[in-house]
Amino acid sequence: MGLSLRARLFIACALVALAALAAVTVLVAREQRGWLLQRHQESLERTARSLARDLPRAGGDWSETAHEWGGTVGLRVTLMAADGRVLGDSDVPVGRLPLIENHRGRPEMSEALAGRSGQAVRRSRTLGIEFLYVAVPAVDRDVAVLRVAEPLVAIASLQGSLLRLSLVAAAVALLLALAIAYWIAGRHAIRIRELEAVAAAVGRGDGGARARELPADELGRLGRAFNRMSAELRLRVDALERERDMRERIVAHLGDGVALVDRAGRVMHANQAFAALLGEPAPPAPGTPFQEFARAPELAELVRRVREGEKNPEAELRPWSAAGPRLLQATAGPLGAARGDAILLVLHDLTATEAANRVRQDFVANVSHELRTPLTSLRGYAETLLGGGLEDPEHREAFVRTIHDQAVRLEALIADLLSLAEIERPGARLRLATLDLREVVERQAASFRPRASAAGLTLHVEGGEAVPVRADRARIEQVIANLLDNALKYTERGEISVMIGGDAEHAWCEVVDTGHGIPHADQPRIFERFYRVDKARSREKGGTGLGLSIVKHIVQLHGGTVTVKSSPGQGSTFRFEIPRTH
Ligand code: ADP
Repeated sequence: MGLSLRARLFIACALVALAALAAVTVLVAREQRGWLLQRHQESLERTARSLARDLPRAGGDWSETAHEWGGTVGLRVTLMAADGRVLGDSDVPVGRLPLIENHRGRPEMSEALAGRSGQAVRRSRTLGIEFLYVAVPAVDRDVAVLRVAEPLVAIASLQGSLLRLSLVAAAVALLLALAIAYWIAGRHAIRIRELEAVAAAVGRGDGGARARELPADELGRLGRAFNRMSAELRLRVDALERERDMRERIVAHLGDGVALVDRAGRVMHANQAFAALLGEPAPPAPGTPFQEFARAPELAELVRRVREGEKNPEAELRPWSAAGPRLLQATAGPLGAARGDAILLVLHDLTATEAANRVRQDFVANVSHELRTPLTSLRGYAETLLGGGLEDPEHREAFVRTIHDQAVRLEALIADLLSLAEIERPGARLRLATLDLREVVERQAASFRPRASAAGLTLHVEGGEAVPVRADRARIEQVIANLLDNALKYTERGEISVMIGGDAEHAWCEVVDTGHGIPHADQPRIFERFYRVDKARSREKGGTGLGLSIVKHIVQLHGGTVTVKSSPGQGSTFRFEIPRTH
């Protein structure tokens, strides 16, 4: 693991402080030495000049004078003649003086001989230790130059103690700098760690995590920029999530089945419709192998074909569901451009379309069949008449009557077909008006009464209050007429009674007959087009097989219901009920 930021900052600060203090200490030490030498030199020069002034008062034994003065001022005192001979030296016994080499060539001495004060720092060849020399010219009988010297050891010890002091100060300063560096590094590290924690929280999706913005230095500004970025991010993520949710809702509510299969053949997503169409209770969890969920070989084949590069292969499959066999159209396609991308499968339910097609085909077949019977009959009788029937006075009237009856039947059939087409037309509109249902029923009953009495039946409408209702008069008349027509057609004797009533919301009408009734098994089907219980009887009575389906459609258009109760041999009760306000 690398060094922590705190450690790095601290080490960097410490190194800088150390280097700065070391440089300062070295410079100070050098400066100190220069300053000390300067001070000593000045002091030596003053001493030398004052001794030089005392020379005339000295005895004449220069060696003794040098020793005496040396003892007094605590320095080495040298007296030199103009020719360079050393006349006396406080650090050299008198006996050794003749052995001392000529001092004329010493730099400080030659300076002094030239009339200026001379200085030098040098190891003494005479004594073997380092000295600071200061020489001044002396105006005396023998002595030309007076020189005082101080061993550097004295200065060095002073310098040493000064250096120690400097070092202690530097150490104290260093400690202080380190403490401050440690504190600053710590503070920065804490703030950076905070930023790191906030970034991690935002990464986990915690939208409320905020970085510190104060103090407003670089880190504060970084925190601020970070907060702005995370707010912006939140907004974008929210927008994306909303969009995703919306898309998921749309897909979930699609009637078509939609599934996404990844490159490993696992389901990434499937909607409810996809499961329902395949007869499964719920969509598979993401990650389920597709083949395990959708066992239809056609689907596996589609996936394979897409993998092989086919663009949008299609297939039809007929799975079984609780509601019976289904017809599904399956389409597959790659979601992206690359071959390994996810595959989108769409299942479209064609069961209803197929059923509707079948109903249409059945209807056309039925209509053709219904038309063919009277037409065949018409043609037959017309041919009979043409083939000599006209000459047959006994039968020709009966033939022409039959032709007339068949034409009437055809007319009725076509009228019913037109009515049905009109009612079933998409967007068929009702001409609503407020009408009294009782009054409408009574009028219809009145028009059927002659037919009833001709058949030996009574047609009775129970009296009562008016039953106002919002409805299409012509259509409701058609409903009542069809029900009364059926009651008369299928009742041999007895009576037909009609009751009308209503509550706050609904108006109803019941047509009760005492005819042969309808077997239970047929009751659910009599409202289908062309469905007849007894075909021969219906035809004989001029029925088209469409009357009740017209009734059902009109009542449904009014938002109502029609029901039948019947016991074979006892009679039937047809009841329709419509809302009072449409
Ligand atoms: P149709 O023109 O044949 O009467 P409908 O659609 O009106 O056609 O009736 C369908 C079938 O329902 C009839 O063929 C008949 O068998 C039966 N049906 C209708 N009304 C009655 C009724 N009141 N009594 C007995 N059977 C009836």
